[in-house]
Amino acid sequence: METRRRTVEHGDKTTMVRAAWVVAYDGSEHRLIRDGAVVYAGDTIHFVGRSYPHQVDRTIDAGHKLVLPGLISTHAHADSDIGGRMIVDAGRRDLLRSGFFNYEPLTHDGTVSLLAGEDPVASIRFGLTSLVRNGATTIVELGGGTPAGHSETMVDLAGELGLRLYYGPGFRSARYTYDSRGRLIQIPDEQAGLKALEQAVAFVEKHHGKYGGRVQGLVVPYGAFSTSAEMFRRAKDAARRLDVRMTFHLAESLIEFNETVQRTGKTPVAVVADLGVLGPEVILGHCSYVSGHSTTSWPYKGDLETIARSGATVAHAPLTFARRGVKLESFERYRDHGINMSIGTDTYPLDILSEMQAACLTGKVADANFESATARDIFNAATLGGARALGRPDLGRLAPGAKADLVIVDLDTLRIGPYRDPIRALIYCGHGGLVDTVIIGGRTVVEGGRLTAWDERQALAEVRASSARAWDAFPRYDPHGRSLEEVYAPSFKDWEDPKPTPPSG
Ligand SMILES: [Zn+2]
Repeated sequence: METRRRTVEHGDKTTMVRAAWVVAYDGSEHRLIRDGAVVYAGDTIHFVGRSYPHQVDRTIDAGHKLVLPGLISTHAHADSDIGGRMIVDAGRRDLLRSGFFNYEPLTHDGTVSLLAGEDPVASIRFGLTSLVRNGATTIVELGGGTPAGHSETMVDLAGELGLRLYYGPGFRSARYTYDSRGRLIQIPDEQAGLKALEQAVAFVEKHHGKYGGRVQGLVVPYGAFSTSAEMFRRAKDAARRLDVRMTFHLAESLIEFNETVQRTGKTPVAVVADLGVLGPEVILGHCSYVSGHSTTSWPYKGDLETIARSGATVAHAPLTFARRGVKLESFERYRDHGINMSIGTDTYPLDILSEMQAACLTGKVADANFESATARDIFNAATLGGARALGRPDLGRLAPGAKADLVIVDLDTLRIGPYRDPIRALIYCGHGGLVDTVIIGGRTVVEGGRLTAWDERQALAEVRASSARAWDAFPRYDPHGRSLEEVYAPSFKDWEDPKPTPPSG
């Protein structure tokens, strides 16, 4: 067991956080300290335990609250997701429960796009705000949704906010669009994709390590289904040369699974494994449609063993998929195979605590087993699993030498009610709205439930205006010129005032 104390460098100001509950790491697992303390100086934790024997410069008395290590989202789309919010309870049946296929650009050059009316800065600011405000301190951003010219916006807003961001612009060998009969098709453009890869590499070289190391580069061949073998080879080489992680979407839709089988005779996981893409530096987004998934008609053995052997991580983001009627089968099965599991926040509501709750609930339903996907396992995935995915033993834990990334949650609410185990109370009754304080690298970024960097009410107002503009312009995107409400009926029809009755007599 490692020492729970670390010498404070001369000149560092020390801060002690005291609270009724502290989730502390003992060198091998998380433990709960009743009436505990965390002491940090600069960006590093120096002590966790019951009582600190030295003077500190500042004390944060968190009273009855719960102190957690900063949570890690290994798969986030840090924007407002106007497409995903549009297709809830609806969408095209021929796309077999997939989500984003429903709102791809109408032209392959992206000019007729749902996103055309959106303000990318407002969208990214809102996404990053939500992630931090709800308790994520480190995110892996997929970089594909960032509109052209706004990759630096992502880096600079994350830097201003104080978030740890793993990021690189996405690239692909083919784009999705629809043909004249409205069928989903892929338009290959390998040359444009390879050029985007080169630009992404230059971007990572320029920005990796910015903002005191909080911004880290990432190589993002956006989706396995739209990445050629040559592009994967170059992406893998780039990640190795830059010494950064690589992430992409894999086995995300049934269409991808079926078409991959028809083209290659292999599952999507087997295809990337045979190309030599997998490895401990790789984070696989979703990876739901693996051999043995009940909708794939593919025998059970194979894919999970392959992923486990490679050391790759799966980023499990259940909420977006649950809204499409899709579940991972199952968290427990992946874990039993020895796969490093982590939690992603995907599209919205960008609340990692809600995502953790969904992971527990969908995991139990998937197995019809109340002992599956426990609060302990999901908490570990959102902390230690994410840290392992990133090769960061200094994240996802409160321990001496780890980064001072802390989340303080208020359990003293009706929503939480009575509890014996604060972790189960947090996951099964909680949500991001209960987050009171977020500290990243020793810097307080949320205090008293409010962001310190900028006005979150203004960020909300701006993204609502931007989203309304894009949704109002839906007739320009729809090939038949229909309004959004004509295509996606609202839950309830608009109120109609009764016709005034003429006065009697
Ligand atoms: Zn995604």
